[in-house]
Amino acid sequence: MGSFRINAVETASRKKPLEVAIPKEMASTYFGKYVFDRPKMFKYLPSDVYRKMTDVMDHGADFDRTIADAVAAGMKQWAQENGVTHYTHWFQPLTEGTAEKHDAFIEHDGKGGMIEEFEGKLLMQQEPDASSFPSGGIRATFEARGYSAWDPTSPVFIIDDTLCIPTIFISYTGEALDYKAPLLRALSAVDKAATEVCHYFYPDVKKVQSNLGWEQEYFLVDEDLYNARPDLVLTGRTLMGHDSAKNQQMDDHYFGIIPERVMQFMKELEIRALELGIPCKTRHNEVAPNQFEIAPIFEGTNLAVDHNMLLMSLMKRIARKHGFRCLLHEKPFAGINGSGKHNNWSLSTDTGVLLHGPGKTPLDNMRFAVFIVETLMAVYKHNGLLKASIMSATNAHRLGANEAPPAIVSSFLGKQLSDLLEAIEKSDKEDVFNLSGKQKMKLDIPVIPEIMLDNTDRNRTSPFAFTGNRFEFRAVGSEANCASAMIALNTAVAEALTLFKERVDALIAAGSDKFAAIVKVVREDIATCKPIHFDGNGYSDEWVKEATRRGLDTETSCPVVFDNYLSADSVKMFESMGVMKEFELKARNEVKWETYTKKIQIEARVLGDLSLNHIIPTATRYQYELVKLVQGMASIYPTDQADVLCNRNRRIIGEIAQRIDHIEEYVYALVESRKVANAIASEREKAIAYHDNVIPLMDKIRYEIDHLEMTVCDELWPLPKYRELLFIR
Ligand code: ADP
Ligand code: MG
Repeated sequence: MGSFRINAVETASRKKPLEVAIPKEMASTYFGKYVFDRPKMFKYLPSDVYRKMTDVMDHGADFDRTIADAVAAGMKQWAQENGVTHYTHWFQPLTEGTAEKHDAFIEHDGKGGMIEEFEGKLLMQQEPDASSFPSGGIRATFEARGYSAWDPTSPVFIIDDTLCIPTIFISYTGEALDYKAPLLRALSAVDKAATEVCHYFYPDVKKVQSNLGWEQEYFLVDEDLYNARPDLVLTGRTLMGHDSAKNQQMDDHYFGIIPERVMQFMKELEIRALELGIPCKTRHNEVAPNQFEIAPIFEGTNLAVDHNMLLMSLMKRIARKHGFRCLLHEKPFAGINGSGKHNNWSLSTDTGVLLHGPGKTPLDNMRFAVFIVETLMAVYKHNGLLKASIMSATNAHRLGANEAPPAIVSSFLGKQLSDLLEAIEKSDKEDVFNLSGKQKMKLDIPVIPEIMLDNTDRNRTSPFAFTGNRFEFRAVGSEANCASAMIALNTAVAEALTLFKERVDALIAAGSDKFAAIVKVVREDIATCKPIHFDGNGYSDEWVKEATRRGLDTETSCPVVFDNYLSADSVKMFESMGVMKEFELKARNEVKWETYTKKIQIEARVLGDLSLNHIIPTATRYQYELVKLVQGMASIYPTDQADVLCNRNRRIIGEIAQRIDHIEEYVYALVESRKVANAIASEREKAIAYHDNVIPLMDKIRYEIDHLEMTVCDELWPLPKYRELLFIR
């Protein structure tokens, strides 16, 4: 007993860094080596096919099916030159991971032999057996089939011997069964709405792109220690574990020296990621021990989402090579920081960034104000939905804990931007931007220095902070598919811009000057969306009260937060922007509730098992040793002397007995509460029962176990402790 853990600790501490072979060429040389990117398209595709492909990628032109065979042939040739034998449609079902089913190129040649074949139709569309993916009942109601269809805007890539083709995943009748399909619709909605608003200022703008730069946080744990923790293996987090005496109090991990074993892992991860076209840029230690971050340069949102999914799977694979396990769970360890994934979001046109400013001309300033204010309008109107978009059983541990954004979505603007908006709102002049005198370039607003990147204060508590040329949606969970947040945000901004334009156009139609109309509507909106603006301390209790007063969503129960997807405002927004229909939203919520229940159910079972067959037997064993000792003492000392000498041990025997009783009582109550919850037919009510009745029991069990960990002899304790899991040597 216990020796398994001690052996694991010893093995872990003796591991040497795995030296990674660093390519001789510069990173820019091997960047995108395994991606069928433009230079490769140019090389492997006939020139007219290449032109059509770039038209699809750059201008959203419809894909001309007649070129599919030629594109597939080019891809196949490139792939085979790289030793590829298989291909797969690579998609993002509603499971938080990616899915792939590999098929070999090999086919009968009709003459008794075999050939390698890859036709356009195989590239364009496939029918994976969809019945095992969550659909929230969509397939049952409509059609059993699910189709994956190629997304030509995200390039195909090679992993090992397989050509991976990014695809959407939809039902026979076109309902989205994945993240990518609604994301592409949301991106197209924001493109359309933002381009039209841009035309007030810059008539030449053809396209507005939504950008995403994510920052991925993660933990590394030694593989041997991980394997000795069934809770980590089965649930991705520790369900028990007393605080380590030292954890992050000294602030000595953040930006600290990266341990050599980790450094080698990071190097290899970056090389592999760059080869796959993921523009990795930043790496550092995070706040908690064993916590790290990797961030690429921002990209168009669709590609950035794919790259994040790809990177997460790379991280897991490469970590294993280096004797680690990569934990992407938002809260693997209680008592120290959890992991998030800041989503830096912005809009840019084919000519420049839209959220950057104020600019050099009054027109730029006005454009800046419009896009900032309408983003805030979107976040204000849909703050509950945005919270729902990042909420999950796992991220719920992090939100509202004193480290991450609270479970209330608000926006931090910083002093300069706040002053600017106030000046626009309060100015008594009709033409605050001073545009009437055509060439007059002066801005009639009290001093607006150019807002420099990072000039804004860092407010770690804000879930949606303006940071110079972008907003940073910080509440996103480390394990999540960024698409969920990006679908909600981009659709909400598309709607805000559309409504903005409708009102401006109505004023213009009624005879108002264009710019006067814009200023009028912007002013109204600055006043309307004020409740979302909060620069203070998001951790304080006062903020919860104040936010409630402002009408912001302050709900913390994960299954209830999901209701926001089905509010009248959300349904109207998703339907009017052409992103999702009400029954799709309903179906997806069924999946969310079901997933929530299953996650908590698994955790509860694992905790029950560990309590009964790891913790209680270990504690009993130690207790038995103490009992023998007390008996032994009684045999060598007179009774009253033995009583005094055994005082402490008697107390511990009693304490262990009591804690064991409690644990057992709670474990049986846990089983009962699951039974009751499982009998509930509605997925929503079931998830709520898990949240309200199952989780509190788990917390009680953990409390007792963590105290036992401090009492029971270290040598006997079976599970690696926080102090062992958290410090890679
Ligand atoms: P931090 O917020 O920790 O300072 P960084 O400044 O290193 O992080 O980068 C955050 C992320 O924001 C990076 O992915 C970066 O490329 C991205 N980013 C920078 N400018 C923009 C922008 N205009 N739109 C979207 N993302 C951006
Ligand atoms: Mg950041």
